[in-house]
Amino acid sequence: MPEKKYLFTPGPTPVPPQVLAALGEPVLHHRGPDFGVVYERCLARLQEVYRTRADVLMFTASGTAAMESVAANLGAGSRAVVVSAGSFGERWEGILAVHGADVDVVRYEWGETPRADDLAARLAELGGTDLVFLTQSETSTGVVADVQSLAAAAKAAGALVAVDAVSSLGAVPLETDAWGLDAVASGSQKALMTPPGLALCAVSEAALAAAAGKTSRSYFLDWARTQKAQAKLDAPFTPATSLVVALDVALGLLLDEGLDAAFERHVRLGRAARAGVKAMGLELFSPDEDRSSVVTAVRVPDGIDSGDVVKGLRTRFGMTMANGQGHLKGKIFRIGHIGWFDVFDITTALAATELVLADLGADVERGVAVQAALDAFESTTPVA
Ligand code: PMP
Repeated sequence: MPEKKYLFTPGPTPVPPQVLAALGEPVLHHRGPDFGVVYERCLARLQEVYRTRADVLMFTASGTAAMESVAANLGAGSRAVVVSAGSFGERWEGILAVHGADVDVVRYEWGETPRADDLAARLAELGGTDLVFLTQSETSTGVVADVQSLAAAAKAAGALVAVDAVSSLGAVPLETDAWGLDAVASGSQKALMTPPGLALCAVSEAALAAAAGKTSRSYFLDWARTQKAQAKLDAPFTPATSLVVALDVALGLLLDEGLDAAFERHVRLGRAARAGVKAMGLELFSPDEDRSSVVTAVRVPDGIDSGDVVKGLRTRFGMTMANGQGHLKGKIFRIGHIGWFDVFDITTALAATELVLADLGADVERGVAVQAALDAFESTTPVA
């Protein structure tokens, strides 16, 4: 019997069988009528998921390309502020440095939750900012920021707002239009339940107008070129047509479940993961709050390297979890629970973690995590 594999990372994530089956269909030509039908429906479904009437631009690339498209189209000569509290905040900084923006950073320790007050104060101090860059779900720490209030602070200061929603779109509430977000980057391989390979960026009228006044620093990521082509359902370059077919099916599944139901399911998955981890006697690194429903980050007990936990899970059980990133490598491990997940994925991950930690000599409470997780999943109130 082939070894069963489990993917418990915050991306790529497990892909439902219907989506995998769609990937196996004969390849469509990107200028043919069959693809046009799927492309149009997929772009419309993306607007529903983003909760926007704006165009959602699609690039064949990973999520970072959607982030880079913002900097390539708006960055040159702009005064930008990045709210940075982890690896992906730092990614905005790195990208902007390449594209010639003048960057100021509201910096937090990794694991801290950004505050709208801090951003408002910095923007007032600076006295003129064109662009503010936010990260909704900081996948390196498990923190989900309050994008609505951060964006309101940025808007009040007259800035355009760009959001990295790569690991949060489809898992956590995000209201592109109602919150006035100007550029929202995401990718196919997280809560959208599709393999890696498609970068997505919702772009407001205001952002497009601002970009029109600048020279794009990228040919491939030029918003105007892609927007014009998408409007005619004629992609500017050969898109990964099979991934678009698959994404269309995945978005159909998500919208059939209902976005609000999916958000609620993620809240309960997060509760289950945190309750199980705590019942075992481990310490959470990510916040113990309902908003933190993308990834649960867990500190390893003293004397244990989280790399060994990840390795043990992989070699003993065929399970992939994520180590910490940057300076958190070796100190935390991360259980992703976005997309095609149910509570039994959580209990499986917890049961295996318990066994591997016991193998490594950790003093963990055995046999209680699964029950705690099941109870928390059923609970209608946050578990303290
Ligand atoms: N931002 C966040 C919050 C992410 O989680 C990731 C992927 N881990 C990225 C950006 C980068 O996406 P990609 O690897 O698809 O380029």
